Amino acid sequence: MTAAAEIYCARVLPGGIDERSEAAEGGDPDSSAGGIDERSEAAEGGDPDSSAGGAGGSAPRGIDERSEAAEGGDPDSSAGGAGGSAPRGIDERSEAAEGGDPDSSAGGAGGSAPRGIDVELIGDEDLGDGEVSAAAVANPGSRLDDDARRALRELLGDGVRFDEPLRRHTTLKIGGPADAFCEPASVAEVSALARWCAAAGVPITVIGGGSNLIVRDGGVRGAVLGTGRLRGLALTPPATIRVEAGVSTGKVLSLAMKNDLGGVEFLGGVPGSVGGGMIMNAGTYLGEFKDVTRWVETVRLADGEVIRRDSAACGFRYRASDLPPGEVVVGAELVLRPRPRADIQAEVSALRKRRAEREPKKVASNGSTFKNPPGDFAGRLIEVAGCKGWREGDAVCSPVHANWLVNTGRASAAELLQLIERVRAHVLQIHGIALELEVKIIGED
Ligand SMILES: Cc1cc2nc3c(=O)[nH]c(=O)nc-3n(C[C@H](O)[C@H](O)[C@H](O)COP(=O)(O)OP(=O)(O)OC[C@H]3O[C@@H](n4cnc5c(N)ncnc54)[C@H](O)[C@@H]3O)c2cc1C
Repeated sequence: MTAAAEIYCARVLPGGIDERSEAAEGGDPDSSAGGIDERSEAAEGGDPDSSAGGAGGSAPRGIDERSEAAEGGDPDSSAGGAGGSAPRGIDERSEAAEGGDPDSSAGGAGGSAPRGIDVELIGDEDLGDGEVSAAAVANPGSRLDDDARRALRELLGDGVRFDEPLRRHTTLKIGGPADAFCEPASVAEVSALARWCAAAGVPITVIGGGSNLIVRDGGVRGAVLGTGRLRGLALTPPATIRVEAGVSTGKVLSLAMKNDLGGVEFLGGVPGSVGGGMIMNAGTYLGEFKDVTRWVETVRLADGEVIRRDSAACGFRYRASDLPPGEVVVGAELVLRPRPRADIQAEVSALRKRRAEREPKKVASNGSTFKNPPGDFAGRLIEVAGCKGWREGDAVCSPVHANWLVNTGRASAAELLQLIERVRAHVLQIHGIALELEVKIIGED
């Protein structure tokens, strides 16, 4: 184990599709995605609902308003504090900015769309050499006037893009434009953005890696807060990891593995960011965020306050949490345990292999669309109901895994949502079970 804190720069999110195929080959522990969704098997260890953990307590139990940290009282609690410093004040943004990480395209306005994906970026201008335009798109519904745009530019510099198609930021490759796609580079910038938006009456919608999101075709009015630049990641020996919300799950697993720390093996199959993972309590049959989280820090969108909750107060349960929608997760502390690297590698490889054998590859998706109902599997119910292969345009109920409703080309959100409703209605008719969506839907038609 290294004595000093180790830092890794998170790759741009969503880069998951490309990384998944690599991961499926068992090669890269760094990969943020296993390409496959193991959630359907969560119940194999019993009732999927039995994963409900935490005290189920609703916020704001356990809140620490961080005034002490802000005043410098607790030198150890600087992670994501009001002062905006990353864990131990370390952050590798500069490396990415200098091109250190070839995978990172999480740049500002000049950044190009993610590369190496397996599906076409619908509607992006093909520049003829495999590149796609990162230009803004028509957004007649935008509610931001010139003054608001100027103010956001002053606040975030190149960390804001206007009329940005959100299909570039979702693994489904679906979604209309955000009026402003804002990527604060520190917790202090998150707070400043929250305060400005609250004062200006501009709504904020948060996205992480976009791996569990359907963005409607009309896009999102106001500011979309992307966490991709919150990339602080630090290990405090022997086994504590502080991580900012925009770090990919794969980076966390990689750091743990390199330091012989177990506990996050379940991330071998879960793409997305740590922030999104906290909101969803993401996981697989090997575990979930609830199992390793000591505390979570958020910024309240109404006033920019930084709030810390211990794990019990986060209300983690099966693919959900009680973290309030009016807050953005900015960081967390994870507690791991010593484990030989070979054992970690073996378990992660087995997880990836198992998933690679069972689930769709090289297709734009959110993984599982529906949650498993207690004691059963959404995929089984959908398959028995005969929905496999159903389609609306390019939105298809995967013939490989029925709970994956995927985009095979140029599906619109409207088509996918129509397919979701057809499948849900049919499962209700055949089985009498109302499936609950696992994916989140944002934006307007
Ligand atoms: C191929 C594939 C396989 C998958 N397999 C699994 C699996 O095995 N297990 C599993 O649990 N999930 C799986 N998923 C779903 C997804 O990876 C997880 O739900 C993941 O945790 C979502 O993280 P994200 O950063 O992409 O969140 P997003 O999709 O960006 O957002 C999800 C929700 O969280 C909110 N959110 C995101 N970040 C923040 C933040 N910082 N603060 C506040 N709110 C935030 C968004 O508003 C949204 O409501 C899979 C997805 C894909 C594409």
